[in-house]
Amino acid sequence: MSSYSLGLHELGHNCFAFLQPDGGWGYSNAGLVVGEGESLLVDTLFDLKLTAAMLESMKNATEGAPIATVVNTHANGDHCYGNQLVRDAEIIASSATAREMVEVPPAMLAALNNAPGDIGELFRGFFGDFHFDDIELVPPTRTFDGRLDLQVGGRKIELIEVGPAHTAGDTIAFVPDSRTVFTGDILFIGGAPIVWAGPLENWIAACDLICDLDPVTVVPGHGPLTDKSGVAQVRNYLAYVLDAAKAQYEAGVDAFDAARDIARSMLSGNKLTVEFANLNEYGRICVNVDTAYRSFNPAHESPNVVEQFRRMAEIEAR
Ligand SMILES: [Zn+2]
Repeated sequence: MSSYSLGLHELGHNCFAFLQPDGGWGYSNAGLVVGEGESLLVDTLFDLKLTAAMLESMKNATEGAPIATVVNTHANGDHCYGNQLVRDAEIIASSATAREMVEVPPAMLAALNNAPGDIGELFRGFFGDFHFDDIELVPPTRTFDGRLDLQVGGRKIELIEVGPAHTAGDTIAFVPDSRTVFTGDILFIGGAPIVWAGPLENWIAACDLICDLDPVTVVPGHGPLTDKSGVAQVRNYLAYVLDAAKAQYEAGVDAFDAARDIARSMLSGNKLTVEFANLNEYGRICVNVDTAYRSFNPAHESPNVVEQFRRMAEIEAR
């Protein structure tokens, strides 16, 4: 398996992954499938500068096979804010993703990054490396629900909607002729998953579905290339958090207190849970527990997004 370095990595069978170490907030991966005379791009990046550099790195591969189709795996900006630079292509996403994309436009992140006082400082801690000013969000030109089989330059690419999980409409892209799967943010490798939408059960089912495809190469949304063992790790984390959150919920513990307690018990638990506690961005546990609480009780009120980020920063400051 190739090293985890910034740039375009050839996976064989004319499939490529563009990787951005260290895979933390906003440092997402993308994919490229080159067919006869045309190519498919899986995701754009968080801002125009990053996306332009990525497209430049793909120039050789796409010289005789320009990008005709783009898939946005989900609505988070680190997977679609660069769409403006591929606007001549057909841009495909699930209907749920297309609806969600307009809810957090680049201007909103620009405003949070530029906000005065504590809020600006908080958000720049997460997203200060990126430039959201002057991005025009280009929405999908084609949507689907459930499954969509594409033919791109003679190659079959299966889009499978597995959300709501990380977001409202997560999609994975499977290339059967090379047994390669681009998972979007259904997989974070080296960092903790963040369950914005849930339920966690859907995400666990998505992990099982990926393994059932029997892929050889698995390109996560963040982090290094992996295989089925990486899928199992994410599944184990989610199953552990779901069980632990359920126990806390049934004991009447407040969601944030529960997250702090689960984070502590991971550290003092067995080898597996210590690994969970040592993931990058482990503070995401508080969003994950809160989302689990919402699935146990639909009337559970989640904190707003500023408060969610404040809590993650607080847990990680331990
Ligand atoms: Zn992402």
